[in-house]
Amino acid sequence: MLYGLETLIPNGKNLHLINKQYKKMLKQILSLTTNLADPAVYIISGQLPAEAEIHKRALISFDNICRSGKSSMEWKIAERQLSIKNMRSNSWFIEIKKLCLKYDIDDPYSICFVVPLSKLLWKKLISTKVNGYWEKRINDGSKLYPTLSYLEMSYKVGQCHPIARTVDANIRDIARIPVRLKIATGTYIFQTNRAAFNQNKIDVVCMLCNYSEETLAHFLLGCTRLEYIRKDIL
Ligand SMILES: [Zn+2]
Repeated sequence: MLYGLETLIPNGKNLHLINKQYKKMLKQILSLTTNLADPAVYIISGQLPAEAEIHKRALISFDNICRSGKSSMEWKIAERQLSIKNMRSNSWFIEIKKLCLKYDIDDPYSICFVVPLSKLLWKKLISTKVNGYWEKRINDGSKLYPTLSYLEMSYKVGQCHPIARTVDANIRDIARIPVRLKIATGTYIFQTNRAAFNQNKIDVVCMLCNYSEETLAHFLLGCTRLEYIRKDIL
């Protein structure tokens, strides 16, 4: 889906559509509902947003151009555009300059033409800066969602959240992941939620014990019918 997009660096409506589709796919893979708060998708999967992936690839392409040598056409264009174009230009190289500002990377002109970093160091620098930017942004954003209080501030690029992992991948444990994810993100439907949002009359009482209202607290801590499972864990 992202193939070749680093040569276009989409923005505005196009970027919005790509981000939306990417989030939707992640949610489907994780068996999460589509109305789930955005930061949760990234916190649970440890994936970068599509936008960040495109930016990383664009910055790496730029580095390849800088490395292609003074005799190559791309290098000559890069030098020309970066020397004479101002920030209002639509040039791809000016987009790269904007990305460097966004991610707090030194000016591309000085980085690539004056003191070239090794390929490995440049890749490392891009990863550190881009990952750092999105970790801060998504973690800060997660604080704004009351439903994410159990997940907030735990986004780390490349690390799947512990709640979506299993110790050994057997089918029983895997089947439990979607339930856990729904509980942690506040999207698990209890009888009390069902009653509040349904026009038909629905009984709020727990269908397992028929004793008290089925809420998150009851399900996890109170329900007597689930005591035999809970006992071992507690
Ligand atoms: Zn119960």
